[in-house]
Amino acid sequence: MSDRLAIKGGAVVTANEVIENGVVLCEDGRIKAAGSADAIEPEPGSRIIDAAGRVVMPGFIDTHFHGSGGDDVMANGAEGIRRISRALLKFGTTGYLATTIAARHEELMRAVEDTIAAEEDDPSAAGILGLHIEGPYINPKFKGAQPEWGIRDPNFDECNQLLDAAAGRIKIMTIAPELPGGLEMIRMLADAGVAPSVGHSEADYDTALAAIDAGATRATHLFNAMSGVHHRKPGLAAAVLNEPGIQAEMICDGVHVNPRMVSLAWKAKGRDGMALITDATAAQGVGDGLFMLGDFRIQVRGPLCTLMDGVTIAGSVLTMNRAAANAVSFTGMSLIDAAHLASLAPAEACGVAHRKGSIESGKDADLAILNPDFSVSHTIRDGVVAYQVNGASQ
Ligand SMILES: [Zn+2]
Repeated sequence: MSDRLAIKGGAVVTANEVIENGVVLCEDGRIKAAGSADAIEPEPGSRIIDAAGRVVMPGFIDTHFHGSGGDDVMANGAEGIRRISRALLKFGTTGYLATTIAARHEELMRAVEDTIAAEEDDPSAAGILGLHIEGPYINPKFKGAQPEWGIRDPNFDECNQLLDAAAGRIKIMTIAPELPGGLEMIRMLADAGVAPSVGHSEADYDTALAAIDAGATRATHLFNAMSGVHHRKPGLAAAVLNEPGIQAEMICDGVHVNPRMVSLAWKAKGRDGMALITDATAAQGVGDGLFMLGDFRIQVRGPLCTLMDGVTIAGSVLTMNRAAANAVSFTGMSLIDAAHLASLAPAEACGVAHRKGSIESGKDADLAILNPDFSVSHTIRDGVVAYQVNGASQ
């Protein structure tokens, strides 16, 4: 069996250019070459995918993601996480951080153990690139959809136990800097190689600056669950927009943040200051209907996932391919920038940008082939066609 794959004829989005009528050659799980189809010939015996009329992007990486297809990262054990990894392929996602919510210490420890147990070299699944611990050290006044009973002030013993159990897998931790010990914990996390992400917070601008000074490099879902942009009382969102060196997560579903505010944030932050996330819950990919989400009864209608009042947002059903499509349509950004925000910036946050996140020879052959409407026709994982929509050519 050939382990050579050639994706031919599509618009290939590299870190620097869009190559029309491009080709990507994959061999032994890696990208061997990417360029013009006129200049590069697939080796004899290669499997060929005709991507004419489609866009070839680096596989998406979701750094803030709680669940999909009815499974939650924390609720269904290692087997649930394995199902999630497989479910993500149909959205072009090839890697992700399993993301926890505020919970009892034992539950967070179990989530770490389950995530480690679910890691496997399965080419028919998205890769687990680590964990994002969202809370529990967040401000209950800005809890969003986080359960209040799981929220508490920073506890260094607990946090160290989590870091030890995860052995380097915790890449991001969301924390409210204004809590007692918050700045100190940000310092400790930064020293431990974890990206402290400010969020679920009512920090004022000065506290946000202190957090950045202590090592915070990221902001959890900009605008959502944080003090806002007020012209006399600028809060955390204002600081994130205005200060360099802090990357803003964005839930780009048009529901969590108004498209015009996405556009404003894009102008303020630019490509090095933003990363697309889904913040998706177990309701991702299940379609419209009524569901239980933890203790909450929720309803899904299109991109909107709410409590039964139909108004209170209860998490997202966004997918990474849709997030990229929305980013382009809300801001007019290029496909190169969209790929940066959906793949390379997240790869950097996960510490894997040297081998993932862009179409470049030598990197892992993790790719998403998209139709013009950004629906996914194929997902390639480690050079293997891991997902293919019914009826897609080849
Ligand atoms: Zn979240």
